[in-house]
Amino acid sequence: MSSKNKNHVPFRMCIVCREKFNQNQLLRVSFRSGYIKILPNSDDNGRGCYVCNTSKCIKGLTKQTVENGLRTGLSDVDWSRLDSQLNKLVVKAK
Ligand SMILES: [Zn+2]
Repeated sequence: MSSKNKNHVPFRMCIVCREKFNQNQLLRVSFRSGYIKILPNSDDNGRGCYVCNTSKCIKGLTKQTVENGLRTGLSDVDWSRLDSQLNKLVVKAK
C-alpha cells in the first residue's frame, strides 16, 4: 500500500462560512484586469477568493464579503456582473 504520488491539494477558506475545504470543491471568484468572474476551481492568477459550491454559500455572498475576500473595492457594475453569474450558479449548485 504505497501512494507514491500523493496529490497535494491546498485547502482554502470559503469567504462565507469561513470553513476550509479542498480547493477543488470550491468556486473561485477572481478579479483581474478590472473583470470579475466566478469559476469552478479556476486556476488563473490575479486576485482570488473562494466560496463553497452550494446555494447556501453562494447566496450568502454580498458585495462586502467579496470585497473583503479580494481585498479590493468593487464598483456597482462589477458587483452586478458577479451577481448575475452567481444567480446562474445557484441554479446548478446543490
Ligand atoms: Zn461556505
